[in-house]
Amino acid sequence: GRHEGASKVVIDLERLEQLPGDELGAVQRFARSIQQQRGDYNGRVLSIRADDLRTLAIVFDLSPAGLIEKLTEWNVLVATPIRP
Ligand code: C2E
Ligand code: C2E
Ligand code: C2E
Repeated sequence: GRHEGASKVVIDLERLEQLPGDELGAVQRFARSIQQQRGDYNGRVLSIRADDLRTLAIVFDLSPAGLIEKLTEWNVLVATPIRP
């Protein structure tokens, strides 16, 4: 099943779309696909499932932590999600 992680993975969509497709193209395609499934087109950020992060890491031949590191290097993660 899905578990509550230590912290939520939240992607900065504007930043992601600015990147050249050769680096994080799979993440860009994944994010567009999730937006489509949720009908969530107007957000500036996208929260992704921990389960999906694990699957996406396999595409990059990385561990989930390794993918988080790569996303952090490219400044694609929202460090502190805005709380209401
Ligand atoms: P929704 O957001 O409109 O998503 C519709 C369906 O698209 C989901 O059905 C799921 O099959 C797929 N989907 C959407 N986002 C993702 C994703 O990030 N990863 C994957 N693998 N599939 C995704 P599902 O799972 O039966 O969920 C039905 C509805 O329940 C969702 O509609 C949403 O409103 C809500 N929901 C489910 N899980 C969560 C969650 O973790 N957080 C929130 N806020 N809502 C959730
Ligand atoms: P927001 O849309 O005003 O949501 C505020 C908080 O209400 C969310 O904090 C979450 O804890 C809760 N919440 C809102 N909608 C749902 C829902 O459908 N189901 C459940 N279970 N909880 C819900 P969170 O997750 O920290 O998000 C903070 C803000 O970041 C959100 O404010 C929204 O503006 C943005 N955000 C985060 N993830 C997404 C995303 O996947 N898509 C979009 N469009 N915005 C997101
Ligand atoms: P998670 O599965 O790691 O999902 C992390 C965040 O991705 C969710 O935070 C939500 O913002 C977003 N998300 C995931 N799936 C969907 C979806 O289908 N539709 C939409 N609109 N957003 C989605 P959130 O809502 O604060 O949930 C935190 C955790 O609570 C989730 O972590 C998951 O472990 C659990 N959870 C929440 N709702 C559901 C649900 O309907 N079904 C299941 N199996 N678990 C859920």
